[in-house]
Amino acid sequence: MAGRGGDASPLFTRAQSATSITDTSAVVVVGFAMGPFSPSGNGVYFRQWNEIALPLGRRVPGISGMGSTLFGRLMDAVKVRILGTGMSVPSLRRLSASYLVNARGGNILIDVGPSVVRRLLEFGWTVDDIDIIALTHFHPDHVVDLSTFLFACNYGEKERRKPLLLLGGRGLRRFHRRMVRLYPSIMPNRYDLSLKTLPRGSWLKNGVSFLTAPMNHKEESIAIRIEEGGKSVVFSGDSDESPALADLAQDADLLVVECSSPERKMRGHLDLRTLLPIVRHANPTRVVLTHLSPEWETYAAALPAPLVLGEDGMEIDL
Ligand SMILES: [Zn+2]
Repeated sequence: MAGRGGDASPLFTRAQSATSITDTSAVVVVGFAMGPFSPSGNGVYFRQWNEIALPLGRRVPGISGMGSTLFGRLMDAVKVRILGTGMSVPSLRRLSASYLVNARGGNILIDVGPSVVRRLLEFGWTVDDIDIIALTHFHPDHVVDLSTFLFACNYGEKERRKPLLLLGGRGLRRFHRRMVRLYPSIMPNRYDLSLKTLPRGSWLKNGVSFLTAPMNHKEESIAIRIEEGGKSVVFSGDSDESPALADLAQDADLLVVECSSPERKMRGHLDLRTLLPIVRHANPTRVVLTHLSPEWETYAAALPAPLVLGEDGMEIDL
């Protein structure tokens, strides 16, 4: 078992004998145990059934591509599921903004706001299927279910054994330490948890590359670009106007971008007027708007291509 990172809080000692918190610079990279299709009962047939049975499982019109067939699914390199498109305002229609990326190199969960762990189940996934959790920042609508997730790794249906990696911006270790102080029982019982702080730059893991850039929202806020096999998806997290976002999203196959309000400018957030120059500069193939306030439900104007209003449950093949 890999050793814990040097700046771990003494509070970690409680669970030290059975756990390890590692810095990725010190951990031996362990290959992902599974690719896009999980051997734990959440296989392709189940998820196909899910898409038929669950109203949340609709696909983005016109961009589902080969993924609508079993053969296509097996050929798909990267798949993005929009788990939630909401924000801090509680909504029956929109869960907090969160996304699942199924790459050959692993399953990546982007942000873990309220009820996201339950939302994973709705699409046939469990916490055990996730290899990496990437946090865009530490506001509650993006992280509050992280403790639920980690607790379930210890006391869920089965005890997690495979490694889990937590990626985030500046202060990730401090944030995790404080969470453990509140909830000591989220310390891993039987698996290795690694923390990777990546406020800006790139990092390669199992053939999946992660590129991050700081965003204008909170000091730890990052946007995350994920690439594998020539396919790319960018998640903005929350951000205000940002040349860095435009650069990070350059020519991406998909940009999933915060656009909290259609017309009302909120400090630290994007609206259509501030977003459009970013899209023009970045020139992504597809753009899905997310982190949507209730104002969007009554917005009737057509969105300029390639913008699409996000909906919970959208699935996009890159
Ligand atoms: Zn937010």
